[in-house]
Amino acid sequence: DSIIDQRICVCVRKRPMNKKEDARKEIEVVTVPNKNHVIVHQPQTKVDLTKYLDNQKFRFDYAFDEDGTNDLVYRFTAQPLVKTIFEQGFATCFAYGQTGSGKTHTMGGDFNGGKSQDCSRGIYALTARDVFKYLNNKDYKKENLYVACSFFEIYGGKVFDLLKNKAKLRVLEDGKKEVQVVGLQERTVNDEEEVLELIRRGTEVRTAGQTSANNNSSRSHAVFQILLRRKQSKKLFGKFSLIDLAGNERGVDTMSSDRQTRMEGAEINKSLLALKECIRAMGRNSAHLPFRASKLTLVLRDSFVGANARTCMIAMISPGMNSCEHTLNTLRYADRVKEL
Ligand code: ADP
Ligand code: MG
Repeated sequence: DSIIDQRICVCVRKRPMNKKEDARKEIEVVTVPNKNHVIVHQPQTKVDLTKYLDNQKFRFDYAFDEDGTNDLVYRFTAQPLVKTIFEQGFATCFAYGQTGSGKTHTMGGDFNGGKSQDCSRGIYALTARDVFKYLNNKDYKKENLYVACSFFEIYGGKVFDLLKNKAKLRVLEDGKKEVQVVGLQERTVNDEEEVLELIRRGTEVRTAGQTSANNNSSRSHAVFQILLRRKQSKKLFGKFSLIDLAGNERGVDTMSSDRQTRMEGAEINKSLLALKECIRAMGRNSAHLPFRASKLTLVLRDSFVGANARTCMIAMISPGMNSCEHTLNTLRYADRVKEL
């Protein structure tokens, strides 16, 4: 079976064609024949110039087609991990893929510029909703826990607090190998509405001043964390990390003529490579975890080393022909993550 380790789940989500792709009459090259497989039909040309489709099939724990809603994706990815943080564990969910493939739609949801009440919920909000449900369950009430959230981004290897107007933060590793983001804002939250408001404000800070031509959010990893702490001691009980990763196509920026862009591209490559290696090491129960290889994996250390750690990766793919190469890269990466 493809589930090499029940602690690691790897899924794929295909988004619907968008208006631009439809207007260009772009051909769809991705099909999801069943709930475990995705096929990319890559148009190829032989030496004699006859054309054919090279069909490449991939198997995952789940494959969601263009009709899958955020609710459905949530149910098979992050939802089964909520229990983990109430058992003093670390749960992590990553959205991986090219810019425009649906990472932010899936994780953050869509606010459509409106009030948080009118938004369509993403995995951040859906997870928070269930965390509050668990919190009020009699089995966990006796633990005397409260919920807090933090929200930051990692850009060019530096950490910026999205709940504190992008204040730059330092990451320290202490003698006990504990990794700390110094001064990171942590807001106590009492219900889902308060979480939605934090997500909305943090997302606004993240994307402020950006246009589609100058889209820095595609070059940063956003990390939204839901923490459970004990009421008396404030001691950490469990943590759910939800990550909207930088666009994986930014790797080619290492060829850019602009030095800054090249540096950012190299940083993104480094962190996505380190992430893959950390998850694979976790799957193998390996003692050697290369979490120091990037800022992303350093701040997520607990996600990989904890005895009770569980991870889910959602590989997002665009359906159109123009995205074919990036789609294949995304699927190959996701495939490698679950390989021992
Ligand atoms: P990314 O964060 O990966 O760059 P986005 O989440 O911003 O991509 O998605 C790009 C656009 O496509 C957005 O307008 C988003 O609302 C839309 N979109 C993405 N996924 C879906 C989906 N599953 N259903 C409908 N619209 C989607
Ligand atoms: Mg995005």
